[in-house]
Amino acid sequence: MRPTGAVRLVKGREKPVKNRHPWLFSGAISGIEGQPGDGDIVDVMDQQGQFLARGYYNSHSQIAVRLLTWNPDEEINADFFQEAIAHSVARRQALAADARTDAYRLVHAESDLLPGLIVDRYSGYLVTQFLTLGIDRWKREIVACLADMLFSEGIYERSDVDVREKEGLPPVVGALWGGTPPDRVEIRENGHRFAVDIKAGQKTGFYLDQRDNRVRVAAYCGNREVLNAFSYTGAFAVYAAAGGAKRIVNVDSSAEALEIARDNMALNGLADRDSEYVIGDVFAILRRYRERGQRFDLIILDPPKFAYTRSQVEAACRGYKDINWLAMQLLRPNGILCTFSCSGLVSADLFQKVIFGASVDAGRDVQILEKLSQATDHPVLLSFPEGEYLKGLICRVL
Ligand code: SAH
Repeated sequence: MRPTGAVRLVKGREKPVKNRHPWLFSGAISGIEGQPGDGDIVDVMDQQGQFLARGYYNSHSQIAVRLLTWNPDEEINADFFQEAIAHSVARRQALAADARTDAYRLVHAESDLLPGLIVDRYSGYLVTQFLTLGIDRWKREIVACLADMLFSEGIYERSDVDVREKEGLPPVVGALWGGTPPDRVEIRENGHRFAVDIKAGQKTGFYLDQRDNRVRVAAYCGNREVLNAFSYTGAFAVYAAAGGAKRIVNVDSSAEALEIARDNMALNGLADRDSEYVIGDVFAILRRYRERGQRFDLIILDPPKFAYTRSQVEAACRGYKDINWLAMQLLRPNGILCTFSCSGLVSADLFQKVIFGASVDAGRDVQILEKLSQATDHPVLLSFPEGEYLKGLICRVL
């Protein structure tokens, strides 16, 4: 597609574009040439009319242009997406070659130079999210090249995400190519087996971003009594049990998730392990355990995103502090706290300060043993630090 227009930058706003930050905010635009429609390809020019970059436009979004190329000779067409996706897939070579794992992210949107596009592999199925209007426009071409490039039984769309609203797009779910996935698709992760509900599960079905961290956490679980809070389908529980945990209590508000968690234990031959599945609110249940004097040796806290906007960061931090403060009180001396935050707006620095605040109020000395981040198939592009969202600490609570 030829650019249907161009946007001219406000003087002094070229630097992030030149540094290859993929977002151009509407406030950085001084004028628009031509009549680009929403979702169209536009050129980005400096004050003097010099070409800087090319991307897709949406007047309804604060992020008016998402940049795709900085090369004036590169046309945005099916070949462009074919090549960009092929590069992204090739970067997962090591994961693809690992027979112990067959579920991972193939395309991580901006961080893989493909703004708005998520592609996950779940064994024989591919699951996509088209998060923006500009990328939604290329759905047909993208699906064709995914079908061509990768062996799969089917490609399924899970664009049922709130961010699409900001783009003026409705949520969309359904088969895009090939067969519709069964209600549960079995995947392997580091040799463990999991049932994934691609069609209705959270995100695209599984929290792939925690893959590497599950290995780290499992290393501390031997012979311990484990509380797996915000367990979802029990991924941490399976790793913990396989790592020799004495007992595991899973807590989640989703009954469906816990049902799959139970099945996942069985799938791994761990049905006979001492495990419990508690449906409820973690905030309330941690308090109940404290009142009852129930104690654990290791606690995993992997809550959902608490902060979606800057104005929610303060409340989010209060939430993180509360659950971490409670967890510290439930830990036996020298117990292990594995605590996570997936709110991108809460930095690793701020998160650590919140955990410190919790330790002060709990009256416990706390040592950091390991600092964790998102799995390697969810890379952080240096030019796009906003792509860093998952952080975790493995702590010893003295
Ligand atoms: N640890 C999981 C992912 C957790 S995602 C894994 O490795 O797969 C967050 C989970 O928290 C979701 O399953 C969601 O159902 C649950 N949840 C959200 N708010 C909750 C609350 N207040 N109490 C209990 N569970 C909650």
